[in-house]
Amino acid sequence: MNYSLAYAQERDTQDPLRAYRERFHFPRHKGEDVLYFTGNSLGLQPKTVRAHIDQELKDWAELGVEGHFKAAHPWMHYHKRFSEQAAAIVGALPQEVVVMNTLTVNLHLLMVSFYRPTPQRYKIMVEGHLFPSDHYAVESQLQYHGFAPKDGLIELMPRAGEHTLRTEDILAAIEEAGDSLALIMIGGVNYYTGQFFDLPSITEAGHKVGAMVGFDCAHAAGNVPLQLHDWEVDFAAWCTYKYLNSGPGSVGGVFIHDKHLHDPNIPRFNGWWGYKEDTRFKMEKGFVPMEGAAAWQNSNAPVFNMVAHKASLDIFSEVGMDKLREKSIALTGFLEFCLHHVNDTYDLGLQLITPADPNQRGCQLSILTGEDGEALFQRLESQGVVADWRHPNVIRVAPVPLYNRFEDAFRFAELLKG
Ligand SMILES: *Cc1c(COP(=O)(O)O)cnc(C)c1O
Repeated sequence: MNYSLAYAQERDTQDPLRAYRERFHFPRHKGEDVLYFTGNSLGLQPKTVRAHIDQELKDWAELGVEGHFKAAHPWMHYHKRFSEQAAAIVGALPQEVVVMNTLTVNLHLLMVSFYRPTPQRYKIMVEGHLFPSDHYAVESQLQYHGFAPKDGLIELMPRAGEHTLRTEDILAAIEEAGDSLALIMIGGVNYYTGQFFDLPSITEAGHKVGAMVGFDCAHAAGNVPLQLHDWEVDFAAWCTYKYLNSGPGSVGGVFIHDKHLHDPNIPRFNGWWGYKEDTRFKMEKGFVPMEGAAAWQNSNAPVFNMVAHKASLDIFSEVGMDKLREKSIALTGFLEFCLHHVNDTYDLGLQLITPADPNQRGCQLSILTGEDGEALFQRLESQGVVADWRHPNVIRVAPVPLYNRFEDAFRFAELLKG
């Protein structure tokens, strides 16, 4: 690799995915596209979204309630448009996936089913520096079942002087918790450090001690390769507005492993949309569930909330996670190279806390700054960089393979020089 604009542009020319950038709307700064590095927080809008929304608006205007059956994409069946495409992204069988609600709500619904503590086995293991919503969710689940979070929550912390978790330490903690452990619920990729955990090993270790294993894939879905089915993960949930580019507050995704889908003993909070479809509108008492993860649905599909997700999934299906991952590794590696180059040459005092091993990260790099980090971040913002500041001193940058260029990585490093 070579630190120059010409080299970065040459890499872009050779990038088989370069044309996809044109499929997204970029915010502008002083007449130019911003350097957008926050696809890990809110993905950019696919240009096809507007036509998809117009279609539903038109059908609603022209058909009213009849749209449930007569719309171009009948609303009655709208949620079914996602299962196959979403399953391909997380490595699942279509019946294991349903798109519904939003992430935190889904985590709660999944914990109703898969966090079933007993007086002996009630602990929940999470990664330290957990996304706050997940923290609140697991704490309130503990409390709901009568356990004190201080006693019931096991938080995995990095070793002194380190920023990320070692797999060996995670596995040892699981073994140590043993039969007190009811549930492991960690992020597939940690939102703060960008660390991609060894999900198959964690799942295996969790099952060995008799715990359920679920992952919050908010920062993993559409970012890193997942094989939730083959890894025998019990459940997972993710949002679709980060790497999956489906718009603010968009609908969430849920995975429930096939091995649980036929077990009548798993408790579940029910609603009419989880009821068997053929007889749902007889509106009778006595719940008869849908087949598969669809049984976990409560409400009818929020179509307007789902439209962008469909538009975005179409792009993912076209590209495929393999090609995305290939570019992601190359592009993130180049950004890392550029950051090291300017940091070393100009003595900027920055430190990358994301693992250097591509197998342990997605496309996000988290930069630990010095004391003037916030001022640096604000200067970058005023220069047209959209990145993300995390208190107390981390700048997160995510070069997203669908729409970021090698040139973006170079330009960002140049701006860091000051
Ligand atoms: C983004 C994110 C959330 C946000 O939850 P919502 O319910 O969609 O608001 C929760 N957990 C993690 C790990 C996240 O990255």
